[in-house]
Amino acid sequence: MADFVFPPANQPSVAVAGSEARFPVRRIFCVGRNYAAHAREMGHEPEREPPFFFTKPADAVVDTDTVIPYPSLTKDLHHEIEMVVAIGKGGSDIDPAHALDHVYGYAVGLDLTRRDLQGEAKKKGRPWDWGKAFDRSSPCGPIVPIAETDHPSEGRVWLAVNGEIRQEGNLDELIWPVADVIALCSQAMELKAGDLIYTGTPAGVGALQPGDKVEGGVDGIGEIAITIGEA
Ligand code: MN
Repeated sequence: MADFVFPPANQPSVAVAGSEARFPVRRIFCVGRNYAAHAREMGHEPEREPPFFFTKPADAVVDTDTVIPYPSLTKDLHHEIEMVVAIGKGGSDIDPAHALDHVYGYAVGLDLTRRDLQGEAKKKGRPWDWGKAFDRSSPCGPIVPIAETDHPSEGRVWLAVNGEIRQEGNLDELIWPVADVIALCSQAMELKAGDLIYTGTPAGVGALQPGDKVEGGVDGIGEIAITIGEA
């Protein structure tokens, strides 16, 4: 064991459905604009250009049924419901035809976004980190191992705030399906076991306020529920 000058931080992790063991998170990748209707609501004509990615720190994950304090610096915290792919086997330049062999399982996650800071960064040509990669910005529900489910190619993706549906879409609308997303991400970085990929959000993103109860799900995979707390 290496001798550290102070104890290393706890390993960030996500629950695994039907198991006491947890999935150790290594990195978090997120796909931008992977549903046409969401690309349009953000002011972009959807094109089948290669997808772009951004990242969040591994310790941005939080479990379902958590109260997340309203984050600092923002007046426009947005919800984005997304299917999350958990990588179980790494690789570089992965062939799309074999990409699904690298999946450990699937979960439902939220890509929480400080939309005002993201918008300012876009305008000024600055990095997105302050808009996207903040503390507790990646709630993730339990991962359903592929041993317990099929690779989903369709399924309703939905999010409700205080019981009212805000986001709705279907996995069959993904501009870049999971196999392509894994293959393309692995061209830029060597994927490793423990990496999570948030696959993009359908239309209907919007603002959250302290006290809001946020629930969402992907049919066939699971659900997630969080509450926004006071700042
Ligand atoms: Mn997103």
